[in-house]
Amino acid sequence: MRHRANLRALLPALLLLTGAAPPPPAFDLVALGVNGGVEEPTSAYHIRARGAPSGVMCDVGTLAAGIDQARRRGRYPRAASREEVMTSISAYLVTHAHLDHVAGLVLASPNDTKKDIIALAPVNQALADHYFNWTTWPNMGDRGASPRLAQYHYRDLEPGGLPTPIAGTAMSVTAYQLSHAGSPSTAFLLQSQSGALLCLGDTGPDAVEGSTHLNELWRAVAPLVRQGRLRGILIEASYPDPVPDARLYGHLTPSWLDKELQNLRRMVGDDARVKALPILVTHIKPAQTSRSSRADVSRQLNDLGFFNYIVLEQGRAYAL
Ligand SMILES: [Zn+2]
Repeated sequence: MRHRANLRALLPALLLLTGAAPPPPAFDLVALGVNGGVEEPTSAYHIRARGAPSGVMCDVGTLAAGIDQARRRGRYPRAASREEVMTSISAYLVTHAHLDHVAGLVLASPNDTKKDIIALAPVNQALADHYFNWTTWPNMGDRGASPRLAQYHYRDLEPGGLPTPIAGTAMSVTAYQLSHAGSPSTAFLLQSQSGALLCLGDTGPDAVEGSTHLNELWRAVAPLVRQGRLRGILIEASYPDPVPDARLYGHLTPSWLDKELQNLRRMVGDDARVKALPILVTHIKPAQTSRSSRADVSRQLNDLGFFNYIVLEQGRAYAL
């Protein structure tokens, strides 16, 4: 009896020694939009290094409406106005130029402050060519059709380059290319002093896309998982299973997501670390019937078992 009691008292110290104690959170994430199209609000994640006043958006399918909803739910300090929250965002990371990932940015731009738009070169070019071009919207950028209002400064990232510091935040970012029905999409690896967080845009499985981008991404982040530095992976599961490969249109289902993550698991070679890693599932497309895709995707992920799946909920905050 006495021995057992002593062991219990020692447990916290033992956990620390074996590295099993969960580290304190390194990031705060507010899910401003979690849907994958049709129903708003769509993909938008407000991410800050823990305790830092300013951060970034990873995709901006919604902005003003998403912030207002999160404010009503108490996700920001009570006194913070929508404008203050928008001002605290230092940069937009845009995974790809599809409307469900940029609509909030475009619509809120007349009320916005100066910021960087950080993306792969073809994504920034698409924003300049197709949105901020004086035809579909005034040119709020510093590229393309004159006059350039230059509220936004486009910063092009090279895929897989060195971590680029994000001005005004305590984070740096590296971009990795993804394949979304053959068109370019992006995974952003955010790093702060105490951790890393991976935010993926829309992606199909490598086997269906005829690509090696996810394989290369897993190879790049596997060491961070092994070190316990990676705090989460934001990734899509757009439709519940089953979907014929020809009708995935550059997206994942629970079974494909699981298959891709098994590849990461093999590369990491440490099941305890992989099991502890939050897989933040998002971009679920509402079903065309009254059945809930969200419930189906959640159940299917749960049934698959191994990984720590967390289906992101609209307007919720997560400490990672
Ligand atoms: Zn999308």
